[in-house]
Amino acid sequence: MSEVIPHWLTKQSSLSPDIPAIELENGEVITFFDLKQQSQSFAKKLANKGVKKGDHIGILSTNDVNMIILIHALSYLGAVGVLLNIRLTASELQFQMDDAEVSLLLYHEQLKEKGLSLQIKERYSFKELTAIEEKEIPLKQEIKLDDPFTIIYTSGTTGFPKGVIHTYGNHWWSAIGSALNLGLSKQDKWLAVLPFFHVGGLSIFLKSVIYGMPVYLVDKFEPNQVNMAIQHKGVTIVSVVTVMLKRLIESLGTEKYPKAFRGMLLGGGPAPESLLEKAKQKEIPVFQSYGMTETSSQIVTLSPYDALRKIGSSGKPLVPAQLKISQPQADGVGEIHVKGPMVTKAYYRNEEANTKAFDDGWLRTGDLGFIDEEGFLYVVDRRNDLIISGGENIYPTEIENVLSELPEINEVAIVGKPDSNWGEVPVAFIVKRENYLSEDRVIEFAKQRLAKYKVPKQVYFINELPRNASKKIVRSKLKQEF
Ligand code: ATP
Ligand code: MG
Repeated sequence: MSEVIPHWLTKQSSLSPDIPAIELENGEVITFFDLKQQSQSFAKKLANKGVKKGDHIGILSTNDVNMIILIHALSYLGAVGVLLNIRLTASELQFQMDDAEVSLLLYHEQLKEKGLSLQIKERYSFKELTAIEEKEIPLKQEIKLDDPFTIIYTSGTTGFPKGVIHTYGNHWWSAIGSALNLGLSKQDKWLAVLPFFHVGGLSIFLKSVIYGMPVYLVDKFEPNQVNMAIQHKGVTIVSVVTVMLKRLIESLGTEKYPKAFRGMLLGGGPAPESLLEKAKQKEIPVFQSYGMTETSSQIVTLSPYDALRKIGSSGKPLVPAQLKISQPQADGVGEIHVKGPMVTKAYYRNEEANTKAFDDGWLRTGDLGFIDEEGFLYVVDRRNDLIISGGENIYPTEIENVLSELPEINEVAIVGKPDSNWGEVPVAFIVKRENYLSEDRVIEFAKQRLAKYKVPKQVYFINELPRNASKKIVRSKLKQEF
């Protein structure tokens, strides 16, 4: 039997009506009471267009406050939000909308061209929706934790993106697990600048409603603006990915963050140790974390207490979560399996992926890692990216981390190239920072720091690394070079 809780936004509006739920950069404030009113209003407008429980509603939006209001609106109807990545091409978007059986699309005015180019029975821009009249219907007063709330697609590094179904319970437990791990203070204010269509961005707004915590909303990532908000707007936590942290540190210069700043929640991908060291020097607390769309944001987090002595680790599983390494090799590395109430129960309409991914309540993540003697997780790489050369396992990330220390390198990706002697050998794709950088210099640098079999056998200089709509490197594209 599914657990039932009072609707979380109605509850928060009654507990903390005057507390800011969302603060905008222009100084505008939306209280929890306002947020509830506006969400319920949108819900009634959607009801007028026939939206009802179980409908799949596509949302295509920049980081706009109306996107958040709309997501809450869907929860008052029991409809499911399919959150679309705005960087996708029209055909990629069409695939996701068809795959998720979206019946109605809501799009931000700024994305009008894309929104209109898609094939869908019914669509409204946010402005058009605002103009629709409300229909008086009974709105949901309770939330059933087993009901689906959102569908978000994975980035698709391994082929076609998969639609991850998140129930209310998944999001609830993600928020609770995060609070138990990071702690929660009445002073907390979380800055949201990650895309809201990624689960890491969305989760901030759900935490806000579940905790009664203000969110400082930033629509576009400008390092100066984010640093300004941390220094002068009372922001205590910011969710970031690696590149953002790098740029924030660069733009901070010699300045410091205030004492009240609790830290950066860093996730989404591997973080080079050199970056974590830099953050340490600047006294910026970083919560390293590991998670994926399937785990409704982070599932493993490194507490600030351990951060400095466990650099490079993603930490321990959140209070309600479990972790194990399946079939570890001699070096302890094996596939990471996770379990917990924040983990999705299924991909939408994808039996093949479901069969592959789930094993007796555990999720096979497809990532490789090991757990040290104190129980800390180290994520090594994706299983698919592993290079096997003459029987030795080579982890591209390890080599990439070493080469990123070379100042003349801007970006680097390591992939395996087929080789008649060794099966595969590592080769480097490099975007230069300094034009004079030569292949010899790269190989010499690597030789001094890496075992011989890990030294790239060849260096390709390119202008830019191929990335997908989630900004992740698409290694299969690099391999096409061979
Ligand atoms: P697909 O599953 O379609 O290939 P994806 O896995 O890139 O897409 P996401 O769910 O957005 O889609 O990304 C989660 C992945 O990001 C993790 O499975 C892992 O590979 C990587 N990742 C997340 N956190 C870390 C971390 N701390 N260190 C290393 N890798 C990480
Ligand atoms: Mg994945």
